[in-house]
Amino acid sequence: MSEQKRVLGVHAAASSHWVGDGFPVRTLFPAHDVAELSPFLLLDYVGPTRFEPSNRPRGVEEHPHRGFETVTISYQGSVDHRDSSGNSGTINPGDVQWMTAASGVVHEEKHGKDFTAKGGDFEVVQLWVNLPAADKMSKHRYQGILSADIPRVELGTGAYTRVIAGELNGVKGPAKTFTPVNVFDLRLEAGGTGKLILPVGHNSAIVLLRGEIVVNRSSTLKGSAQMALLSTFGETVLMEAKAQSLVLVLSGEPINEPVASYGPFVMNTQAEIRQAAEDYRAGKMGRV
Ligand code: MN
Repeated sequence: MSEQKRVLGVHAAASSHWVGDGFPVRTLFPAHDVAELSPFLLLDYVGPTRFEPSNRPRGVEEHPHRGFETVTISYQGSVDHRDSSGNSGTINPGDVQWMTAASGVVHEEKHGKDFTAKGGDFEVVQLWVNLPAADKMSKHRYQGILSADIPRVELGTGAYTRVIAGELNGVKGPAKTFTPVNVFDLRLEAGGTGKLILPVGHNSAIVLLRGEIVVNRSSTLKGSAQMALLSTFGETVLMEAKAQSLVLVLSGEPINEPVASYGPFVMNTQAEIRQAAEDYRAGKMGRV
């Protein structure tokens, strides 16, 4: 019998705030009670939000990043991306963009053109994944991962997951990562149950985006933007859905290095943060 991971605590996102004029996000972490979940630095959730048709794409104007990766998962609606290294693309529902900012990139994130024109429900996650010091100044990398390339694993009755990154039951996700990371997109029907095996030693969290689930028969997550943090010891996690649920599972090997962060830059020292700001101002990260 493998041991269950223990639920260390249940946390709810604070109230929402706007990122640009397109993303009404609720931040799961960093928060006062959860500073980080190394190697994960930030998790923002735009819950289903209705946007009316518009002739001007809403979103975030050009801004830099250095020292980590941004992962954008679209559930409903689409996001257009353009960046300083010439990459561009549309993240449609089911797609994932895994962007390694590393030494520096400038990008803009906007609602997709068709979505903007037609309007509709918008639901997106953005996750920030830290890079080890040795890779922070490596070359920018862009992975546009299509829904069709993300494998699906049945978990039990009325439950399955899409493996975006990492591995589950021998099925590997398409995202290339710098450190061992699992990112799973789980869907459970009401009454569905699913069991997962997550590595011993990983920091991990079960994030309920919406619905209602009971984790390890002990902790209930209900409503929207709630998260159960799990122990590094143990391997198994049991989820029982009381309602149709959308769940994001994160686990990763902690990066045990100092974190210095300021806005869009996440480095190891304050001197490196100052350098990042200077390099951006000097145009060294390019322009969109
Ligand atoms: Mn960004």
